[in-house]
Amino acid sequence: MSYNSSPLWRRKGRGEERVHSNLFNQPFRIQTCLLTLLCGTLVACVGVSPGQESAVVTRAQLQMGTLVKITAVARSESVAQAAATAGFAEIRRLEELLSTWIPTSELSRVNASAGVMPVHVSPETLTVVQRAFQIAEMTDGGFNIAIGPAVDAWRVTEGQHIPTEPELDVLRPLVDLQAVHADVRARTIYLGKAGMRIDVGGIGKGYAADQAVEALRRAGAVAGVVALSGDIKTFGRLPDGKMFPVGIQHPRKDGSVLAWIDLQDEAISTAGDYERFFEREGVRYHHILDPRTLQPARSCQSVTVVAREGIWADGLDTGIFVMGVESGMRLVEALPDVEAIIVDHEGHVHVSSGLRDRIRQP
Ligand code: ADP
Ligand code: MG
Repeated sequence: MSYNSSPLWRRKGRGEERVHSNLFNQPFRIQTCLLTLLCGTLVACVGVSPGQESAVVTRAQLQMGTLVKITAVARSESVAQAAATAGFAEIRRLEELLSTWIPTSELSRVNASAGVMPVHVSPETLTVVQRAFQIAEMTDGGFNIAIGPAVDAWRVTEGQHIPTEPELDVLRPLVDLQAVHADVRARTIYLGKAGMRIDVGGIGKGYAADQAVEALRRAGAVAGVVALSGDIKTFGRLPDGKMFPVGIQHPRKDGSVLAWIDLQDEAISTAGDYERFFEREGVRYHHILDPRTLQPARSCQSVTVVAREGIWADGLDTGIFVMGVESGMRLVEALPDVEAIIVDHEGHVHVSSGLRDRIRQP
């Protein structure tokens, strides 16, 4: 199904995040530059059933280079606060394993040892890399965590550098997933060629959302949402029995929602060409690269995936963005519990069969 007339939706915005406070039943918007305001705490007590109260706490912090917002629902404020704290701590722990911006992280050490020796890693890092292999296979190589050297060459956010074809040709042999060796038994990862770099930017935030939700649960929350910018995982329902509403960002209308969807025990993730990009002579250069050309992928404006787990939603959105709408939708329709909304390069909106009755236009 494709819509091309009415613009639909939101889930990711440039420099801002919309937060829906179900406590006060009104949407409010937060500019990222006002982040400090967010570091306070929102708390409300909401009646669930006669004689029973439940507390909802919402807090935000900068983690993994993005705005992370956690909402925890629990039977008391202190439990909800503790759950949110546990969620943030879990994301911090994973950041220290997976971030390539932290020189001592496990992945940084794997990258630094490329072509030299295997590096012992945690089960979490192995899980992310194994899932990345699966998604690479499912997306016909569209998803490829060996993309690191090309991501560095483009430096879309920092340098806005357009690499020449000879520059990219030098890197091409390094973007080689076959040379990423994960040994589950020995718990090591080895990159077979010097200069290789793995980059889990396309899947790590979804995994972090999943793991943070587990931390919330362990700390006693009965429901909640963990949102790392556009990578969102929900569990349970709001105290009033409603599901968690999520708006999906329109890829070409800053601040406007393409469509709404209500989620319960599901994750949603969007990959788009509108968040991290620059323009040169009318051409948009963005941060999702086609592993074959090492150029920004051109077939979509945005891909939103809904799945049970954030790790799948996040990995698939990036891989499907590279695949394009036809094979991407075919893949989605073949996968149980995976749905998608794809805005193709012309701005036409394609909605998978399982979502057509679930989305609302604003
Ligand atoms: P974000 O939510 O940070 O925008 P996405 O899920 O859209 O993340 O993934 C984009 C990131 O994934 C890039 O910044 C880069 O680190 C990495 N990446 C870029 N192209 C690919 C690719 N083809 N396969 C896997 N990862 C990629
Ligand atoms: Mg992704």
